[in-house]
Amino acid sequence: MSLFLSVVPVKRAIEVAKSLATAPKSECISLNEAQDRVLAGDMASDIDIPGFTRSVMDGYAVRAADTAGAGESAPAILALKGRVLMGNSADYTIQPGECAYVPTGGILPEGTDAVVMAENTEPFGDSILIKKPAADGENVIRYNEDFKKGEISPQKRPAALGTGSRRPRRDRACGGAGHKKPRIGILSTGNELVPVSQVPATGQVRDVNSFVIAAFVRDHGCVPVSYGIVRDDREAFGAALATAARECDAILISGGSSKDDRDMTAVRDRRDGEGICPRRGDRAGQSPRSSAGSAPYRLIGLPGHPAATFVVLVAIVRHLLDGMTGNAAPDPVTIPATLAMNVPSTKGREDFLRVSLKDGIATPLFGKSGLLNTLANSDGVLRVPAESEGFEKGSRVEIIPW
Ligand code: AMP
Ligand code: MG
Repeated sequence: MSLFLSVVPVKRAIEVAKSLATAPKSECISLNEAQDRVLAGDMASDIDIPGFTRSVMDGYAVRAADTAGAGESAPAILALKGRVLMGNSADYTIQPGECAYVPTGGILPEGTDAVVMAENTEPFGDSILIKKPAADGENVIRYNEDFKKGEISPQKRPAALGTGSRRPRRDRACGGAGHKKPRIGILSTGNELVPVSQVPATGQVRDVNSFVIAAFVRDHGCVPVSYGIVRDDREAFGAALATAARECDAILISGGSSKDDRDMTAVRDRRDGEGICPRRGDRAGQSPRSSAGSAPYRLIGLPGHPAATFVVLVAIVRHLLDGMTGNAAPDPVTIPATLAMNVPSTKGREDFLRVSLKDGIATPLFGKSGLLNTLANSDGVLRVPAESEGFEKGSRVEIIPW
């Protein structure tokens, strides 16, 4: 059944958004491209890390047993066998009663199992006075203690590429396989819109949404592809949509979502696409309508008002983008806060309220969704679940920051 023009709960809109997401494709990427990517597969270390037992202090590599009972008044006296140079292995083995100087990061000589910090020692002729006992393994990182060769890193982010990788290709530039960044087409619709570089004449409005949406898309690991302002004209709208559909993995359209003759988004959406369009006049994000079908476009229609658009991005579109990038993080990170005033809400309706946050106090910014100032002055959004009748002043709440 088509959901077009019907009011559906946010939960249902999120389901539709998730269902629109195509499975992420993977590609070979270099380490420099790895930021903001999700790994396409497990990362396994290609080497033992560290590949040698190394000191974490400047000091003396010893056999721990030789230092037992050592103290200020009764130091152990160990013959100094040599000094380990950074990056070099010693060509000798430390025997009982001997030690060797080793710098931080240096390779422990054969026969040693601990390091005594230089501060707890004193030169004494050709020997070293050890004034503190060392336990077996003290001040050292043992061979492959960090990662064993072939060990899978639980870290799903490409930061783990530091461990090396089983490269999918014999390509030096390839650090590993990452999910491709989905391309998200962005269209702003409206005869009244002018580019932000222009001073609007009476009746005109600057196209704020293109930038708000592009920033959000970029923040969520996707590539925004802006198609600028499209006039409320069936031909122009259809052409822009067709181009975006050809060039992008999904499309976000703002404006044109109500029942006015000029409002093409809903019309095109019903005829050609699958997606959801929150309706102007509904509280932002509260009541998206959807048309589902087997159609070539994957699109979500957003409200024209920038503040309302932003709430829908945070509440609904995020799920589409996360699905397409393969980001498995289920929920937005929230910040706990105390409410500065009562927030009434009608039971059965999910509300998203912009709030300012200062010193752990969340102050709701009541205002029409058409105002830019509630967006500019806000730090995040408070979600009031459908089953709630609101929150009282002083309640502890969770804020979704932006
Ligand atoms: P619409 O959904 O096209 O009826 O637009 C609803 C309201 O949002 C109108 O006041 C539009 O002027 C405004 N609006 C639509 N698109 C944008 C945009 N890209 N930037 C700023 N305001 C917009
Ligand atoms: Mg419009």
